[in-house]
Formats: sequence, C-alpha cells, structure tokens
Amino acid sequence: MAAGEHGSIRIGVIGGGQLARMMVPPAIHLGLRISVLAETEGSSADRAADAVGDYRDPETVYAFADTVDVVTFDHEHVPREILRELESRGVAVHPRPDALQYAQDKILMRQKLAELGVPVPAWAAVANEEVLQAFIDGHGGRAVAKTARGGYDGKGVRVISQADEVRDWFTALAEDGHGGHLLVEELVDFTRELSQLVARRPSGEIRSWPVVETVQEGGVCAEVIAPAPVADPATLEEAARIGRIVAEGVGVTGVLAVEMFEASDGRVLVNELAMRPHNSGHFSIEGSVTSQFEQHLRAVADLPLGDTSMTAPVAVMVNVLGGPAEGPMPVRYATVLAEHPRAKVHSYDKQPRPGRKVGHVTVTGQDLAAVRAEARAAAAAFR
Ligand code: ADP
Repeated sequence: MAAGEHGSIRIGVIGGGQLARMMVPPAIHLGLRISVLAETEGSSADRAADAVGDYRDPETVYAFADTVDVVTFDHEHVPREILRELESRGVAVHPRPDALQYAQDKILMRQKLAELGVPVPAWAAVANEEVLQAFIDGHGGRAVAKTARGGYDGKGVRVISQADEVRDWFTALAEDGHGGHLLVEELVDFTRELSQLVARRPSGEIRSWPVVETVQEGGVCAEVIAPAPVADPATLEEAARIGRIVAEGVGVTGVLAVEMFEASDGRVLVNELAMRPHNSGHFSIEGSVTSQFEQHLRAVADLPLGDTSMTAPVAVMVNVLGGPAEGPMPVRYATVLAEHPRAKVHSYDKQPRPGRKVGHVTVTGQDLAAVRAEARAAAAAFR
C-alpha cells in the first residue's frame, strides 16, 4: 500500500460522527494518519476533520480520496455509484462497495443471507398493500415492515397489523419512481438480542469478539453486556459461526456487526448487518485487548489483526441519550467522574437532543450485577 510523507498509512473516514471520532485515538497510537470527511463543522469527529463536505457529492469525495491511501466509513450512506467510481480510479475502499451494498439495502441483505444459508426471520419484498396484507395475514396477523434503505435506530421499522399503516412509505416509494419495495418480516418472539462482531482484512485474516447481548429501548441500543451471559453454549457457538459465514460470504473488510435474535423457540436469526464499528462493540475500548476501532483501522489498512480476548470477565456499556432537560455538560461530566471513578466515560461532544446518542459509559469487572449497576448509575448521572 502506498503511504504518506513519513511512511505512515493515510486513512480517510467518510462521515464525522462518533464512530469516526473513536477511530482517532487508536490511529494516533498506531502511527496511522487519519482524516475525516465530516458533513458539518462542529460534528463529533471535528477534531480530526481535515475536510468538511457532502458525501453525496462525487467531486467532494474524489478530492478527499486523493489525499489518503484507503477510504473507509463512519456510516453506510455513501451512494454506491460514487464508491464504484472510486474503485475504478484505483482507490482502496474498505469495506468494498460489493460488500457494503448488503448493509445499505435490507432487501439485498436478506437475499444474500438466504443465499448463504444463514437463518433469518421469514421475509418478503412487497410492492403494494395487497401483497403486504397477505403476508401479515399469513404470519399471525402482525408483522414488521421496514424501509429497505436509510433506516437507523428504529426509524424505518414499524410493527403493523394492517398494510395501510405504511401507506406513507409506499407513497414515498412511488414518488421516488424507482419501483421500490418494502421489506416485511415475521414478528420474531425473541428472548434477547445478540451481536457478533467480526473483523476481516483484505488478505483474509478473521478475528471475532465474544458474542454480546444488546438491550434496545424504543428501537435504540440502550445497553450492551459482554460477553453475553451464557444461556446455552450452542447458541454462542452458532452466533460465532454465523458471523464468520457472513464475513467470508459477503467478503467484508473491516469490522462487521451481525445483529441477531435469540428466538424463544431456540433459533438464532440474523436481523441486521453493519459494516463498520458498531454500538454493540463500544465495550471493546476497555473490555478487549484490541478495540473494534483499532481493529477496524488495522483491517482496512490490511495490517495484522489484534487479540480480541476480554480484559476482564465482564464489561457493560450503557449509552447516554440526550434528554429534554439538559444541564450544562461540564457540570454533569464532573459529577459522573467524581462519583464513579471506575467508570470510563465517553462524551461525543454532540449537541444533546432528546433520544440522540451523546456518549456512553463502560465499566469492566468480575461480577455482572455489580458492573451493570455501576455502569447504569454512571450513565444515569449524565442525564
Ligand atoms: P435499524 O436499522 O433501525 O437498527 P432494525 O432492523 O435493526 O432497524 O430494527 C430495530 C429493532 O426493531 C431491532 O433491534 C428489534 O428490537 C426490532 N425488530 C426488528 N425486526 C424485528 C422482527 N422481525 N421481529 C421482532 N422485532 C424486530
């Protein structure tokens, strides 16, 4: 790989959110040069943002790519045509557009997972209300409808019993003029949600972290327990197996998160793929020998991957969401640091808005109940 002035590899991250921000410290430690194409000044990764511009504008992205050795991402929204053009210009893009498309489009993702023989909820791509209603009626009268593109944190996901509950989405698809479909799935009766993080580098090396349990509130990740408290070792093995199949089958380069349901009937079903560091892996900053952010950089630069063992028996990460009644951040920050010296506090330096992820707290230790209580208390003190 070509390198920058002093021989260090230059990594360019498209997107200026907290994921890009958290790649900065390990880039510094590894001696990699990192720059960020942030949407706006004052975004979370602002400290490292050498460029500010619109990732949907081809010329902006090409100019940014000219300044780095490898392009990677903080989000999955860069249009595929721009990424393909980058590749045809000889730019190293990781994950590659052929892999990333499965994280960009939930219908393509379901098709690919089915092709790989990975267990998924029953699903269909539907183009109108009649077909959607037939699916709902055939699956117990309730189902989960999803927009194929552009959803995040539960936006673009609705539990419905009548097809007209997503009439607005069909209307938007019709106006779009691309003849798009919605995804509809069986409403899975699950006991918990799991996430398997895997990293793969272009030369093929793969490393997996222990599978974790994720707790969602209102469609947003609230808490992550690493490793997932063991119910059935077979489940954990199945999750690791699925992670590997997806990473290899899709040809992911960088970090991959496979979000799964542990269904009440014992099935492990894949819900979602993310091809970048993921909220379910934030625990790894303190909880793993190699964090997901460091591993992502190693992987996209095609450097040897690091050890993914836990540094303690348990790690619990709790998200800090913005609330309506915000006190001044510095005051709350000092309180949390004073009252919870064992908690590792991460602030994303973002303007708080109700429900917006503005930081997280991780605690590691021996005893799950104690670690969890401390992480929750520290996160609550932020709000
Ligand atoms: P997003 O892309 O917004 O993260 P997801 O597809 O991950 O959307 O769905 C968000 C949440 O909605 C999931 O974490 C899960 O709690 C719930 N959910 C999604 N699909 C299903 C399903 N088929 N059955 C039951 N719950 C679901």
